[in-house]
Amino acid sequence: MRLTPRDEKDVAEAIRTALAHDAPLSIEGHGSKAGLGRATQRDRVLSLAALTGVTLYEPQELVLTARAGTPLREIVALLDAQNQQLAFEPMDHAALLGGARDDATIGGVIATNASGPRRIKAGAARDHLLGFRSVTGRGEIVKSGGRVMKNVTGYDLSKLVAGSYGTLAALTELTLKVLPKAETEETLLLSSLGAEKGLAALRKASGSPYEVSSLAYDPQADAAALRLEGPQISVTTRRDDLTRFLADFGGATRVLAADESRAFWSRLRDAEPIAGEGVIWRVSLAPTDGFAFVERLRGAGAPIVAHVYDWAGGLVWLRLETAADAHATAIRAIVDALGGHATLIGADADIRARVDVFHPQPAALAALTRRVKEAFDPRFILERGRLRAEF
Ligand SMILES: Cc1cc2nc3c(=O)[nH]c(=O)nc-3n(C[C@H](O)[C@H](O)[C@H](O)COP(=O)(O)OP(=O)(O)OC[C@H]3O[C@@H](n4cnc5c(N)ncnc54)[C@H](O)[C@@H]3O)c2cc1C
Repeated sequence: MRLTPRDEKDVAEAIRTALAHDAPLSIEGHGSKAGLGRATQRDRVLSLAALTGVTLYEPQELVLTARAGTPLREIVALLDAQNQQLAFEPMDHAALLGGARDDATIGGVIATNASGPRRIKAGAARDHLLGFRSVTGRGEIVKSGGRVMKNVTGYDLSKLVAGSYGTLAALTELTLKVLPKAETEETLLLSSLGAEKGLAALRKASGSPYEVSSLAYDPQADAAALRLEGPQISVTTRRDDLTRFLADFGGATRVLAADESRAFWSRLRDAEPIAGEGVIWRVSLAPTDGFAFVERLRGAGAPIVAHVYDWAGGLVWLRLETAADAHATAIRAIVDALGGHATLIGADADIRARVDVFHPQPAALAALTRRVKEAFDPRFILERGRLRAEF
């Protein structure tokens, strides 16, 4: 059964009815991220696609409020007209999961904490969520936060719901911090260094004063990429300084000007360099461990088809040949030894039902996660089984 509430009151009603029937609900915006996480046990789909519209936009105040089902592209276009943007650069999952490009809703973006290459400098989606309205798995309407960054004590529920995959509450309205767009951007490419040296160059740059906003290494192209954003004069000066700063690494340098730079980072943001047949993993660890992780995985005989490093090596996207366990055992053994998280992003529903999609948590953290779930959704009515088989 598919429910399409028209407003927040309807959402609350739908959740209360589901509770009364013990009929688990999965939440959907446009369904562009339905393939993320474990396959849910669901009886009904709660579509928030009809809850649309920007209800407040004050460019001077750098704040925007939108209903959860508002298409991201509408928000991007509205901000663009004022030369503003969502600084967290939400990734589009279409290249990895299929479906139409540019079809996300803002609710889905926040619920999965979808963030991009600028995350190392600008923060993740959750860092830009000032407040929200939602209906919990208890059927209660809950409002949290407001229009300004909170710096007082108290529970910052925004940090909990962003990235919770709808397991705590159905988000109905979100208030986001927005930022001015940079006047321009450029990307410095260092080629022919090899992965180890290329990543070392990125780490050196990330600790430098040149304000590099994104740092990636693409092994297919053997290119280390460093993005600079800001006023043209500042970008040019920093690019020259950065080129000198990294000269000892050698390699060929090339500069991608504004449009080319944007195309490069949007491709990387959407993990296009690794898209294709097989299983897809997203591994985050300390930037110093990215290279070692891939080497060890290769050493263990895992059939890596393509991979790319973002966040100066702190995020590794991988595509491997399909296997019954999606290579989870091999990947997790290495990630556990190094410290980090491995998330299975792309695999068919069968595999996602058998393998832990999210990195297993230590017992104390798992117990805390369960208590948070129980506080919001004691009957496990929302997205049952999406994060963990048990709830
Ligand atoms: C700048 C930066 C530096 C980092 N440095 C390190 C480091 O030095 N060492 C290190 O080990 N990690 C590091 N990390 C990784 C990071 O701390 C973990 O990967 C993080 O806890 C998992 O969230 P995420 O940011 O990868 O994904 P998110 O996009 O935040 O994940 C989305 C959501 O998925 C769900 N989820 C994720 N993991 C689990 C889980 N295990 N169980 C249940 N649900 C889950 C949660 O709801 C989570 O909010 C770094 C990350 C960043 C951004």
